[in-house]
Amino acid sequence: LNRRLDGLGTTIFAEMSALATATGAINLGQGFPDTDGPESVREAAVRALRDGRGNQYPPGPGIPELREAIADHQRRFYHLSLDPDSEILVTAGATEAIAATMLALLEPGDEVIAFEPYYDSYAACIAMADAKRVPLTLRAPSFRPDLDELRSKITPRTRLLLLNTPHNPTGMVLTPEELSAIAALAIEHDLLVVTDEVYEHLVYEGTHHSIAALPGMRERTVSISSAGKTFSFTGWKVGWVMADAPLVAAVRTAKQYLTYVSAGPFQYAIAEALRLPDAYFDSFRADLHRKRDLLGDGLRAAGFGVYQPQGTYFITTDIAPFGEKDAYAFCRALPERCGVVAVPNSVFYDDPEAGRSQVRFTFCKREDVLAEATSRLRHLS
Ligand code: PMP
Ligand code: GLN
Repeated sequence: LNRRLDGLGTTIFAEMSALATATGAINLGQGFPDTDGPESVREAAVRALRDGRGNQYPPGPGIPELREAIADHQRRFYHLSLDPDSEILVTAGATEAIAATMLALLEPGDEVIAFEPYYDSYAACIAMADAKRVPLTLRAPSFRPDLDELRSKITPRTRLLLLNTPHNPTGMVLTPEELSAIAALAIEHDLLVVTDEVYEHLVYEGTHHSIAALPGMRERTVSISSAGKTFSFTGWKVGWVMADAPLVAAVRTAKQYLTYVSAGPFQYAIAEALRLPDAYFDSFRADLHRKRDLLGDGLRAAGFGVYQPQGTYFITTDIAPFGEKDAYAFCRALPERCGVVAVPNSVFYDDPEAGRSQVRFTFCKREDVLAEATSRLRHLS
């Protein structure tokens, strides 16, 4: 393994899902739903396959139908107007979007300021681009970013701010005021902003706002999203990048040599999914809102310290009330102790001490599964 990938090993999600499979425990670790997305969207994929649409290499930027549907989605939800031909690029999930963006925009040695705890692929992609990640630590209990601290981390080598809202794993959702303050810093220091918004439709308190919509931000922002979370098809790996044409062209150059194109028939299906009526998005969010409260109540009853998330489908907890400190050891032992799998947030920090006693649970599971998991967790103390 080369120096850049040194220490990146196996992702915590793969490790913990393997542990769930090996032990038969309930998997509240890796974030994937146990119920697939809408039947009509699945049917659209089958129809595309059957009719021979997308079975051969689709166009590099993504099929026009999907790019148009993404543009319409951005107009419908954020009043953003995008040119489907030059300002949208379809990728193999948000994961490839993040990788291609980092590889396209960073020079070796550039500094990237990113929230920590961070989604694990950020660290890997910044490392693969030979750039340097500068963490801005989100601290319990609110996990709000300290904007003075953000300012103090900007140096002449800073090239890019990597945002994630709603934020995995903490569930923090940036407010319009925070987004404006971040935008002002980006403009003042002439920085690019990359914003990962894959949980855009999972906000329970407040609303999701896109930093790209703020004055002066359009030309310096790359927005990333994906169909995996919004439509409960994480296995399809359909994501997208949205930005001004020169930025999209740069990211497209990198994407061409990573996957060339993304799987065809799923693109046709997601083009239909993005046109589902508002009622779909509302009931999807309402369903997860209920599940958030169910899991949150269950975790509190079991004795965890619960940090209430405003968005995403994750809850970060603290295991200190059990007299335990080491989240990783706790998560390794949890299946044995009570038949549940979770993810230690400690691995999402540069300084493992910072998140040492934080454990993340997902609630994108059936209500009976969440009830069973929390009843098992009650036997812990
Ligand atoms: N960003 C964040 C914050 C995520 O939680 C995920 C979840 N997998 C991704 C990106 C990757 O999305 P995708 O599955 O579309 O590659
Ligand atoms: N985004 C999901 C999570 O945070 C899973 C992603 C993955 O397995 N790479 O759990």
